[in-house]
Amino acid sequence: MTATIARMEDLNLHHIVRQQFERAVPFADELDGWMGIAQWLFEPDRVIEVTMPVTLDDGYVHIFRGYRVLHSTVRGPGKGGIRFHPEAGPDEVKALATWMSWKCALVDVPFGGAKGGVVCDPHLLSIGEQERITRRFTAALGDTIGPFTDIPAPDLYTNSQTMAWIYDTYAMMHPGEATLPVVTGKPVALGGIGARQGATAQGAYYATEHFLEMGGVAGLDRLDGATVVVQGFGNAGRHAARLFRDAGAVVVGVSDSKGGTVDLSGLDVIAVERHKEEAGTVASYPDGERVERGAILELPCDILIPAALENQITTANVDRIDARLIVEAANGPITPEADDVLAARGVKVLPDILANAGGVVVSYFEWAQNIENQRWEDSDVREKLRRRMRRATEVVVTKRASMVDGVDSYRRRWAEISGDGREILTPDLRTAAQTVAIGRCRDAALQRGVWP
Ligand code: NAD
Repeated sequence: MTATIARMEDLNLHHIVRQQFERAVPFADELDGWMGIAQWLFEPDRVIEVTMPVTLDDGYVHIFRGYRVLHSTVRGPGKGGIRFHPEAGPDEVKALATWMSWKCALVDVPFGGAKGGVVCDPHLLSIGEQERITRRFTAALGDTIGPFTDIPAPDLYTNSQTMAWIYDTYAMMHPGEATLPVVTGKPVALGGIGARQGATAQGAYYATEHFLEMGGVAGLDRLDGATVVVQGFGNAGRHAARLFRDAGAVVVGVSDSKGGTVDLSGLDVIAVERHKEEAGTVASYPDGERVERGAILELPCDILIPAALENQITTANVDRIDARLIVEAANGPITPEADDVLAARGVKVLPDILANAGGVVVSYFEWAQNIENQRWEDSDVREKLRRRMRRATEVVVTKRASMVDGVDSYRRRWAEISGDGREILTPDLRTAAQTVAIGRCRDAALQRGVWP
């Protein structure tokens, strides 16, 4: 009997980030002088793990674990969300912090990368319990966070209310100090920006619009009439569905953690939002066909927007993906192996560090506004975001074109310098975006004299 042994795909996020990094390094300019610095730029500056006793509504004290990783401060203070999720862990948080460093560099905001996570299931926690966990986590982090050191923001299953609790706790720990900029994504009444809520999706929309205008997807030059599927119906996904629909796209499927709903003639996105608010899920939307959670990704469409979790498109389902463009509103939804299959099939991917950077751009605006004690108009915020996203999209597209043109010389140089025999793949948009970002981090480190 012949046994076929399938190679297991490595889904550890930190290993995935390293794989991506190693794909980008051979394309970095002035490679010769920075092999050592490249390794240093990959490692996180600091990893904090805290254990927190919190009294839950049942009257018992439960122990929670939380993480905060500061990946790099070479371009400025750390910036990155805090997520509440049962599977949050050190490697996941390190990976997400690394992507934040690259994302901030790519859209040129003066921050480094950071991320936090608390291991808990928000579906099983009351609002009061979430508040107590948040306050305890903030106190446990103490002065490792701060307006000029490490600035949290919302992420998976946290929101503006969570940020208000973090701010309040931190402010009590620093009486008499101006501490509003310690956190972004706050409610408008607390110095937040109204447009922050939809900023991640808005950024994804601007990047997609410009990418299509630039001819990124053959035969698809505008959103009007394009069919769209969105996985995840939270902050990123819900706003994306609405914005793409407003631009004339036909949203044929959306999903959340309980399942999906499909209407090939186009869902009424506002009615789906209303249903989600009432029923807690989009899956039971009465005017759509209910589908299993995983099936939503396989629906034929022009544009697929994963906006939920990482590792959603893997070798297990990539062959069934039927989209022309994938816009990564979520962080890390596609594995490197799946990336290669998509590239071979000509499916374009707007990578996470570009596509979902709108959130951190508007977070930067909020931080700057708080420091200057100003309040900008929402229309100004949107216009500034639009310009930044279009510029970053152009930089990535142009960089990829020059990398593809020169791929043979990059291969020769890499063979001379490293001699490690590694296969240098034809770069996709992700590798191009990361090459730009890592190069900017390197330049900052050299100019600061951090590296001799
Ligand atoms: P959120 O908590 O507001 O929403 C998450 C959504 O995903 C919910 O609708 C949930 O039901 C759904 N979901 C969870 N598991 C699912 C599954 N297995 N299948 C389908 N849907 C599932 O979170 P968010 O802030 O929208 O974040 C979503 C993604 O976007 C994350 O990867 C996050 O890191 C990324 N992101 C968010 C922001 C931001 O500003 N919020 C910025 C950049 C990137």
